[in-house]
Amino acid sequence: MEFAKEIREVQEEILRLKREKKVFIMAHYYQRPEVQAISDVVGDSLELSRKAVHLDEPTVLFCGVYFMAEVAKILSPEKTVLNPYPQAGCLLADMALPAEVEKARRRHPNAKVVAYVNTTAATKALADVICTSANAGDVIKGIDAEEVIFLPDKHLGSYHVRHGVNKKVHLWDGYCPVHKRITVESVNRVLDRYPDAQLVVHPEVSPEVAEMAHFVGSTSQLVRHIAASDHKRFLVGTEEGTLFKIREAAPDKELLLPDPIPVCDQMKMITLERVLVSLREGLYPVEVDQEVAQRAKVAIERMLSL
Ligand code: SF4
Repeated sequence: MEFAKEIREVQEEILRLKREKKVFIMAHYYQRPEVQAISDVVGDSLELSRKAVHLDEPTVLFCGVYFMAEVAKILSPEKTVLNPYPQAGCLLADMALPAEVEKARRRHPNAKVVAYVNTTAATKALADVICTSANAGDVIKGIDAEEVIFLPDKHLGSYHVRHGVNKKVHLWDGYCPVHKRITVESVNRVLDRYPDAQLVVHPEVSPEVAEMAHFVGSTSQLVRHIAASDHKRFLVGTEEGTLFKIREAAPDKELLLPDPIPVCDQMKMITLERVLVSLREGLYPVEVDQEVAQRAKVAIERMLSL
């Protein structure tokens, strides 16, 4: 992708500072294209945080909503983790507050809590195990309990309940407002014009949309599926930032988005200018309470062992 001259100038300054200060930049798939372009790696939130553990650089600048930078700090407490704009939060993560999780545990004393990575550190600390959109089904099946509280995304949870999870699952009443806007109508508006487009979606979409799809998968799985497919035209049912990486991985494909286009305004709060200020001034270092971080780390590591 070609960027305007003013954007390239800021990018060059970021790249110069990043080399000088030995900072590794990570960006989530939903970041702006100009931010993804100056990042050392782009990926899913947990995938990125796990990479941070093995880096030589003492500082990681994490471009994504705040819970993502928290996970990087939890897994690499000895590193400085910077987040350019901590006010950028995940609206889904905010739907499972720690006090409510404690109440749910009391209501279902025999259930284990499986928390999607899209939760705050404080909520992760109350979970038995963490999961991602790529492994949620396997984690629910693998945990040693017949009863599970799955939070906070009811659509991700219900997708796995409908596809192979044979346990009693209490679904939290949370959802991603961005993926909720991908409706049967917004998809059909595009499929009416391009009936040969293959619909691929993220499991945070509603059950009605997921059941229409040819392929359902995490963002990384969507990128890999499209790159490996012989099909030419895809309707991509997830946040629009994902198209930047798909285009790199599969430049020969034609990519369409639902109408209206799904955009996460929180993710887009991380601008190139904020990344520059963050690098220049060492803002904003992520701090996670030590006890919370330790408990959250245990829940994350349990996922890796399942
Ligand atoms: S797209 Fe949804 S789940 Fe992802 S950061 Fe935005 S609000 Fe959270």
